[in-house]
Amino acid sequence: MTKKIVLVSGGAGFIGSHVTVELIAAGYNVVVADNFSNCDNTCFEGVKKITGREDIPLEKVDFCDAEAARALFRKYPIDAVIHFAAFKAVGESVAQPLKYYKNNLQSFMNVLEAAQQQGGCQVLFSSSATVYGEPDQVPVTEQSPRKPATSPYGNTKQMCEDILQDTVKASGGRIKGILLRYFNPIGAHPSALIGELPRGVPNNLVPFITQTAIGKRECLSIFGNDYPTPDGTCLRDYIDIVDLAKAHVYAVTRMVEGKMKADCEIFNIGTGRPVSVLELVNAFEKVNGLKLNYKFAPRRSGDVTAIWADPSLANRELGWKATRTVEETLQAAWAWEKHLAGKD
Ligand code: UDP
Repeated sequence: MTKKIVLVSGGAGFIGSHVTVELIAAGYNVVVADNFSNCDNTCFEGVKKITGREDIPLEKVDFCDAEAARALFRKYPIDAVIHFAAFKAVGESVAQPLKYYKNNLQSFMNVLEAAQQQGGCQVLFSSSATVYGEPDQVPVTEQSPRKPATSPYGNTKQMCEDILQDTVKASGGRIKGILLRYFNPIGAHPSALIGELPRGVPNNLVPFITQTAIGKRECLSIFGNDYPTPDGTCLRDYIDIVDLAKAHVYAVTRMVEGKMKADCEIFNIGTGRPVSVLELVNAFEKVNGLKLNYKFAPRRSGDVTAIWADPSLANRELGWKATRTVEETLQAAWAWEKHLAGKD
């Protein structure tokens, strides 16, 4: 059977590069497309090393350019597209909403239009647990209601979910879609050749932890220790990046093999295991044998108290399950930070 071709938009970034590795390992041909607005070629080079493949096509494309998107679909007979290309900084999206709406919506619509003009395609959209807002009940299932977004970034995720669902409905079966709602992706590839590369001060917890441990940041602030949780800090569902990447392979395979039960499906991608910020910090210290400089600070606005996934639908339907422990993941995150610092 000829290999299926998967376009990975935003494929040079954190999640995209891990997904590229797993797709190639599973026998897919991958076209990586990125405008390099939020990354350099470190991870793409890492992907080539891990896979031993020098020939992975890399296209420098900004999907906000509709003609460039169309040209890509003309150049390659794309079977499925995984769309990551988007801005993702919550705080920045509040300060610069138009930048987020323009980029995140336009680029996705251009991908869908190009796919449609080519005659159809399978589309996997990277959504987020942020669409659940502050949930009434945890864990959240795919049926849990979406809540009004608390940032333009979160709003673009909800709007892209709707755009995909409407497009699928109107396409007469030519476009099918899967929405994967990620919980908190963390960690790095065990090779330490690819990982998260935040620009400037990290917004997310784990890069802040590893940068503090390496000495790039003085002190981690734990935002809030007065939440109604067992230790007072927020609860999240931290999902290993390689586990998360593998979920994409199962989802793409389900699409290209025509095994979907509806034209647009939604899956939570998480572990089902709540971990507090303090537990994560303690686990990081313990597994890596070091002490982290941290302090308690006021709550961060917009943070929800507790959210974790009920991943049973993905477990059952995709045949996928998170396998890594938080400790393994935090070891990988630390190895990546050390790799970046050249301290291996
Ligand atoms: N957090 C923290 N200090 C930081 C960054 C994050 O205490 O420097 C907390 C944050 O308040 C939340 C959790 O870590 O409870 C996860 O935050 P992150 O930004 O990584 O992901 P989010 O759940 O907001 O998408």
